[in-house]
Amino acid sequence: MPEFACDLHIHSTLSPCGSLDMSPRAIVEKAREAGLDIIAVTDHNMAENTPYVREAGERSGLVVLAGMELQTMEEVHVIAIFDDYDTAYALQLMVYDLLPPVANDVEFWGDQVVVDGEDNIVRSEERLLISSAGISIEEAVSWIKSHGGIAIASHVDSPTFSIISQLGFVPADIPFDALEIRDRGKAGDLMPFIMRKGLPFVTFSDAHYPGDIGKRRTHLTLDAPDCVSIEGALRALGEQSLTGQAGRS
Ligand SMILES: [Zn+2]
Ligand SMILES: [Zn+2]
Repeated sequence: MPEFACDLHIHSTLSPCGSLDMSPRAIVEKAREAGLDIIAVTDHNMAENTPYVREAGERSGLVVLAGMELQTMEEVHVIAIFDDYDTAYALQLMVYDLLPPVANDVEFWGDQVVVDGEDNIVRSEERLLISSAGISIEEAVSWIKSHGGIAIASHVDSPTFSIISQLGFVPADIPFDALEIRDRGKAGDLMPFIMRKGLPFVTFSDAHYPGDIGKRRTHLTLDAPDCVSIEGALRALGEQSLTGQAGRS
């Protein structure tokens, strides 16, 4: 089975903290330069740049999955990844209604813009996206899994916006597919706080600037570059970690 270099946590111009250089065209160009095979665009609480990144990706043979980095009511970031944009967009619609109606302060946060494959601005989002939606972690992950998506707890080793920073531990009954970690060297220290054994670690760039794309990545052996195969590969990685044969990154 072929191995795919995956970076499934990349922000674009639609994230207030994402650089305006992160246009769909620029993301795809940098991802190709970095030797990535599969990427996901995961903006805060929105998925709307996905179709444009995908369109640009198709022109150069890069697989682009639809994604979002959801912020739950516990201020926990969760990466949601789907094969099709329609499902990611359905999640966006639901989450949007659950966000506080606070306007984005462009001077402070920066712009939140949907940009097409030719670097044209399609629209600007006025509501501040980097807020917590009125949905619990359990409800968010349950929605993602029941819609065929992949659910990954973001940057679990971060002192902010991670499930461990907010809850103090990773509950056993939340059906995450994986935990994202920035520094794999810290995985051992986190183990006592992870109640479900065999939950694999993955690492992605969380890029907000083009130069960071692919700086952290996870190699997955897949039948096909889709969510079903990724889910299976992550499960296998988790089982390997239980038997002591840690999967490579
Ligand atoms: Zn995050
Ligand atoms: Zn992020």
